[in-house]
Amino acid sequence: MEILKDYLSATAGKELNAEMLTFVANINQVAEQSPQVAKGIIQELVDQRSYLKLIASENYCSAAVQSAMGNLLTDKYAEGYVGNRFYAGCDNVDDIEQLACEEACRLFGAKHAYVQPHSGADANLVAFWAILRKKVQAPIMERMEKKNLLDLTTEEWNEIRAELGNQKMLGMDLFCGGHLTHGYRHNVSGQMFDAHYYYVDEKTGILDYENVRQRLHEVKPLVFLVGFSAYPRNIDYSILRQYADEVGAVMMVDMAHFAGLVAGGALSGKYNPVAYADVVTSTTHKTLRGPRGGLVLCTEEYAEYVDKGCPHVIGGPLPHVMAAKAIAFKEAGTDEFKAYAYKIIENSQALAAALLAKGIDVQTDGTDNHMILVSVDALGITGKQAEFALRECGLTLNRNTMPFDKQGPWYTSGLRFGTAAVTTLGMGVAQMEEIADIMAIVLKSLKPAMTKKGAVSKANYVLDEGIKAESIKRVRHILDGFVLYPAVDTGFFEKYF
Ligand code: PLP
Repeated sequence: MEILKDYLSATAGKELNAEMLTFVANINQVAEQSPQVAKGIIQELVDQRSYLKLIASENYCSAAVQSAMGNLLTDKYAEGYVGNRFYAGCDNVDDIEQLACEEACRLFGAKHAYVQPHSGADANLVAFWAILRKKVQAPIMERMEKKNLLDLTTEEWNEIRAELGNQKMLGMDLFCGGHLTHGYRHNVSGQMFDAHYYYVDEKTGILDYENVRQRLHEVKPLVFLVGFSAYPRNIDYSILRQYADEVGAVMMVDMAHFAGLVAGGALSGKYNPVAYADVVTSTTHKTLRGPRGGLVLCTEEYAEYVDKGCPHVIGGPLPHVMAAKAIAFKEAGTDEFKAYAYKIIENSQALAAALLAKGIDVQTDGTDNHMILVSVDALGITGKQAEFALRECGLTLNRNTMPFDKQGPWYTSGLRFGTAAVTTLGMGVAQMEEIADIMAIVLKSLKPAMTKKGAVSKANYVLDEGIKAESIKRVRHILDGFVLYPAVDTGFFEKYF
């Protein structure tokens, strides 16, 4: 492939476009090994530029984050943690990991940070095992007067294993907005723990604090897990801390979705979980706008247990991703990011208000964060039909269960979407109103198709071709004003793939 050479000769004497040059050099290298992979990368950029990205859990990270991630650091094994490695030659990884931990602590005002988890699911497992080792295993070891697990007899080890497997967790019900790693039976968390749930109010969709307190007193869990994947309202962590203390539960908050809003100061005081929880977990790629990965923050009490993510849960960390996390945490500490965090909420509130004004059933009548939940039940369609039709019309978002959903987790009655990515592109209230209008027109026009047996289909639908064409036109018009990675000209690659 001569892509780089061609680019250099085509741009000789012209002003340097460093981002395009870097992109071309990277694609050139990839294409020399696999034109299909190179084509896939470019096509993904073309697609992401052609659809409004409203997936609540996605974003667009910076070129600096991507460069920190795409390099030789991936070649290094560094099991252990800073200064305590099971591999030689980890000096540079030590420096990078230390920096990422310091940046995370500074950003969130945390006492301790662990930046190795490969994902949010990993971060939760690291946190669960840190809590279990500290609260269950360590006291038994002390009673047995043993320091090392390898010194235990089989009977002693089995006693510990039985106790570890006999602990309770109380988390938000998956269908009310919790995450599958919060004790769902199909996830390992639901097998590790005797899992119990709290719920949102069936009528309002809002968390019922008294009910949470009651459930805590009924269940008396070891782990009280707060946090969500699909809940649009603020949570008062100061109250939940009091409730956790009443029953001696360890309070863990999974802020995977809204970490960027905390980092940017848009969720502060009683709405900032870091100030109240024993352990906080997060992803780094949603509102936080970093590389795909996980993060654990904790008090000093849990630090030594959290740092044992390897060997408890993970093997080697991903040094290249830790480097990208260090960059993302630094970016998230800037004034520009602070403004971004507030803007995400301003946009989601504008989008929710515009949808409500058009008669769309916005759950809880609005939002306090980056995300909006909509029920499409009253429109006579399922979430699946709505998701697929909107995608045909240029809007990418996902179906989601509503609290106590009658359609189940596959078809669902709802949609979940968010404003983190479109806000990164620079969109504002005017664009949110335009998006709400397109969405409302499509949703209201949608009819379920009939199955071959004459029943109403839950999956197939009838979408008016005129509405579809008009929506695509309007979406493209919005996107033309907010181009993703504008320095990169995908047209240049057309002749190669
Ligand atoms: N926790 C919550 C609340 C989430 O929403 C998610 C992902 O959607 C996760 C954990 C898992 O993150 P990952 O997909 O990085 O494993």
